Amino acid sequence: MSLAGGDLNVVRATSLARVRDCGAARRGPEQGELDLISDGAMAIRDGLIAAVGPTEEILREWDEDGIPALDASGLTVLPGLIECHSHPLFAGERHAEYAERLAGASLAEIAARGGGIWASVLSTREASSARLLEQLRHAYASILAGGVTTLEVKSGYGLTLEEELRHLELLARSRELTPLELVITFLGAHVVPAGLDADAYTAQVHGMLPHVLEQGLCTFHDITCERGLFSPAQAQSLFERSRALGIPSRCHADAWTSSEGWQTAVVGGAMSAEHLTYTPDEEIRAVGETETIAVLLPQAELVYMTDRRANARLFIDQRVPVALATDYCSSIHATSLAVTLAIAAPWFRLTPAEAIVAGTLNAAYALGLAGDRGSIEPGKRGDLTLLSVNHPSELCLAVGQEVISDVIIGGAIVHSTREERT
Ligand SMILES: [Zn+2]
Repeated sequence: MSLAGGDLNVVRATSLARVRDCGAARRGPEQGELDLISDGAMAIRDGLIAAVGPTEEILREWDEDGIPALDASGLTVLPGLIECHSHPLFAGERHAEYAERLAGASLAEIAARGGGIWASVLSTREASSARLLEQLRHAYASILAGGVTTLEVKSGYGLTLEEELRHLELLARSRELTPLELVITFLGAHVVPAGLDADAYTAQVHGMLPHVLEQGLCTFHDITCERGLFSPAQAQSLFERSRALGIPSRCHADAWTSSEGWQTAVVGGAMSAEHLTYTPDEEIRAVGETETIAVLLPQAELVYMTDRRANARLFIDQRVPVALATDYCSSIHATSLAVTLAIAAPWFRLTPAEAIVAGTLNAAYALGLAGDRGSIEPGKRGDLTLLSVNHPSELCLAVGQEVISDVIIGGAIVHSTREERT
């Protein structure tokens, strides 16, 4: 979607977190630096940030006739939140299997009864395009209300060339349904379809990739590396294929078991590896500092009832940049990234500032978009998330509460709860 070309002054923000971009994803102790201004303001012109600083300074230079001003007193201004992992295009219902799991059924038992991701694949293949678009419209409205400005969306409930191309096309068409900026990812290697072995299906994904690139709608190729799905060798062959064809890759890794997923993703040159719940500490230490970003998904661990959590503190100690995401999908209907960040703080023992950097600047780097978003500084897009709290850390005290005041994309206010609250 193109920028709305918005002009807007945001003034008198009780707190404004610039999250300054120093040219690389934040790592180590820098993961927790928000670069706060009290009584902060900014000017947005033609959809881009023109200036940021104390209110008095900004008003002196930028208080022009005809420019709308948003009084952000009592509010906290963050760079627009960036959701870097979602699977919003699916049909079918999986609440019954969640109830069964809560009552003690294992994943293997659910799969044996025909549940799991494969059940969603079958339902999604049967769903009409109109119905899938309607489902996307609802999901996007809810994700936007959770503070998100840019959203990564994956295919992966099709798993044949024809269906994957249909889903990617629907994701591209769905841009008309939302002001969210969408980044589209092809996830052919999501699970292995029933009736095929992993080698045979890996070969099929190799064959799909040139057609997907020819279609020209997706930015990333996501590859699963998980014991029982795709082995490190199978994943590696897909990373190499991605590199040869010039499409950047991402990786679903170690969500269910320790699968050498983290090291495979890093060796494969993935921009990010996601989940990492079961990545062993020794593997994190052995791999050490990376350019690959660790995208951690606390709500997935919560809903999947994993008996481990990703070791976020060790990733940060090893100078791996950490991002956070919600993992909206057929089995997780959570949509609010603000809630995810609030949960992530105690879940992973992250400070609120570390969590906020993980949902803004580092998420922008995970999507290769930090050149124009992820922090509040002149030249970047006027994408902002305003919270109805005085200090950014209060986001993490309000677990599950509605704290989003406004969502601004390209200088245009696209969601607001201010009137409801006054
Ligand atoms: Zn996922």
